[in-house]
Order: sequence, then structure tokens, then C-alpha cells
Amino acid sequence: MRPETLEILRCPYCGGRLELVEDMANVLEAGAILEGILGCHCCLFPVVGGIPVLHLQPSAVTAREAIEAGESDRAFRALVSSDEGKADRFMEVASNRDATFRELAETLGEELEGGYFLYRFSDPSFVTASAVVRAVGGTALRGGGRAIDLCGGSGHLTRVLLEISEPAPVVADLYFAKLWLAARYVAPGCEPICCDGNAPLPFARGSFGFALCADAFMYIWTKRQMVGEMERLVAGDPSGAVVITHAHNQHVWSASHGNPLPPEGYRALFESVEPRLFAESKLLDDVVAGGPLDLSRRDDAAALAEQEAVTIVAARNADAWRAHPLATREPIPGELRLNPLYALEELEMGVRMRLAFPSEDYEDEYGACRRYLPEELTLDGDTVAAVRDGVRTPQVRELLRKRIVLDLPERYY
Ligand SMILES: [Zn+2]
Repeated sequence: MRPETLEILRCPYCGGRLELVEDMANVLEAGAILEGILGCHCCLFPVVGGIPVLHLQPSAVTAREAIEAGESDRAFRALVSSDEGKADRFMEVASNRDATFRELAETLGEELEGGYFLYRFSDPSFVTASAVVRAVGGTALRGGGRAIDLCGGSGHLTRVLLEISEPAPVVADLYFAKLWLAARYVAPGCEPICCDGNAPLPFARGSFGFALCADAFMYIWTKRQMVGEMERLVAGDPSGAVVITHAHNQHVWSASHGNPLPPEGYRALFESVEPRLFAESKLLDDVVAGGPLDLSRRDDAAALAEQEAVTIVAARNADAWRAHPLATREPIPGELRLNPLYALEELEMGVRMRLAFPSEDYEDEYGACRRYLPEELTLDGDTVAAVRDGVRTPQVRELLRKRIVLDLPERYY
């Protein structure tokens, strides 16, 4: 972590400032705090692998004791997984600088969504959320300001926030291993903070211009507190905005339901900014059509009631409520790859691609990706070579727009 990040951190329990406890083990590398102990009025919290761990679950207590004893490997292992075999395997693979995100994620198996992360960059909720983030976050942060990705996991949308957030975005999650993967692979340069979304958030009032919670809000039990906290994080910013994407609808069954509210229940959580709720399928329609993303629309209660999921936008800057062109900025550069949802058949000149879902569950949940991923297609040799060499020809750009080709973080799989 960068020492200046301490300016925005607060203890989730006493609200006090956090400071590096100088008489305890502190390891600094290139000006960043790699390991150490942070103290407030009430608690001591460890920094492990550059990540402040600002909760008091048993793994965090074990990690703090290990850092105090100068045993950083033991602290890291305790936080990676409660399964010692998995934690050892993760550490072993992580020690190889050439290891891929996929190899590391696979050591944790089901704990890391059983492989769905591999397809995250083309799933419909990500495709919709990234367009909303660029539109609303881009408007909120036009004059500068920081973004936060709450329950951000391994940082897929944090990567999008890197395009618009200055200083670099924060990604917050309870799961330490995901945050470590976010910082090392998916969103390099982001600031990861390990904390509990069911507790007060460990940040000072008004530290951010844009607060996001994507695909996770229905798993938060303390929803009222979470929204109150998101409003607090962007307090005082006349352009501040809060976005919650893919909030499941209590009235419509979905594959990974969580504890959702009805649309009117989500609306009632907001106390300081009037939110607008959008039918998520209509936002996806806009993206599939190539834009614009029309946030001037007002979806009525009947349209929202039949949606599997809604997107909630609370923005103080009225400029958010317009039709936004898609992708006005160049994305963070990565490596071009053919979408792994396709089975490939090498041809004499090119490759035949056939859509092959990893499981029936995946197809149930994300089958809407058929809206932009054709069942079958053939790429000629020149196009395959352009993708392999990372050359963005007009044809490659069109394949990127349709998510047939993906722009992935380096060493992703
Ligand atoms: Zn405290």
C-alpha cells in the first residue's frame, strides 16, 4: 500500500485514523508498505503482502499475530485460505513470477467461483456494468477524483476504473486472495483493501467521487448500512455518484439468487440522493446495438418488476442522465486473446470457432452472451495473426467490440 492511502483509511469500528505502529515489524519496499501493523484508538490491524486487513475475523487475528512475530509467510498463508493444503499450493505457485492468474486461481478451486472468472470479461453482467461504469463514473470523475470498487473481488471492474480514477482506484473485498490477484494481475496499480462489506466501511467521509458495487449487493445482509456508507464515501462531491449493478430482483428467480430486495426496496435504501433504477436487459440491448447507453430513459415499475436484475444509479451530476457513447477512452492495454468460451478447430488458413459453454449452470446464468457471441464463426489466417501479434486492425476492433476477441490482463491464462 502507498503510505498516502492512510489519509483516507479509518478504523471501521472506532472511526479513528490509522497509523503505522513504528515499534512493530514494518517492511517498506520502494516507498510502499509491504508488511506492518496499523493502529487506531481501539484495534491493531496487519498489512500483509501490501494489503491492509481491516477486519477482525479469525484469519486476520492470526495474521496480525504472525506479522508481530515477524512471520510474514504464516500471515499470508492464514489469509489466503483456511485450507492449509490450498494455501501452501497457492504460495508455491505464487513464488513463480511467470505463473498465470488462472494457475493461481485454480489452486483455490470453488473458493474462487470455480473458474467462472475465466469468462468474466465477456459475461453479460460485466459487459453491461463496464458500460455503466464508463458512463456514470466517467461523468462523476470528469474533474478528477478517486473511485472505489466494493466487493470488487479480483478486480475485473477495477481494471475499468483504472481508466477514469485519479488517484488510482481502491478495490475492497473480504477475500484476501482475490485482492492480491487483483493487484498483481487484473488491475495493476490499484489499491486493495481487505474489509467486511457487512461492517462500516474503513474510509473517511468524502474520500471518493464514485462508489461501485457490481454483481454482489444481494449477498450483503446489511444493505441499508452499505448504501448509507456508499453515500457517505461520496459525500460533499457535487458530482459524486453511487452505482450498484446486477442487483437481483426478489420477484424473479435467478441462478445465484442471494438475498435480493424488490426494486422498490432497493430504491428505499437511499436517503441523501434520489436513485434511478434501470432494467438491466435494456442496458444490455444498448450495448449490443453498439451504443449509445441511454441513461435518459425512465423505466417504470412494471418494466422493472419483470427484470431478473436491475442497475441502480444515484448521481448528483444531472449530466449522468443522457445517452452516453460507448468506450470513448482506450482501455488499459493488455493481451489480445480469442474468447475462451469458444472451442477452436485449426483450419489450413485460419480457425473455426464454436461456442462451447463450460457448464449448464454457466449457460443458465450467462446465456444472454449469445446476444453478441455468434454460435459459430471462422477467422481467416490474417485475422488470427493480427490477434496473436496484438495488432488492432479495424476487423480486430470489431471482434473486440463483440467480445469474440478479448483484451485481457497480461498472464491471465
Ligand atoms: Zn478503532
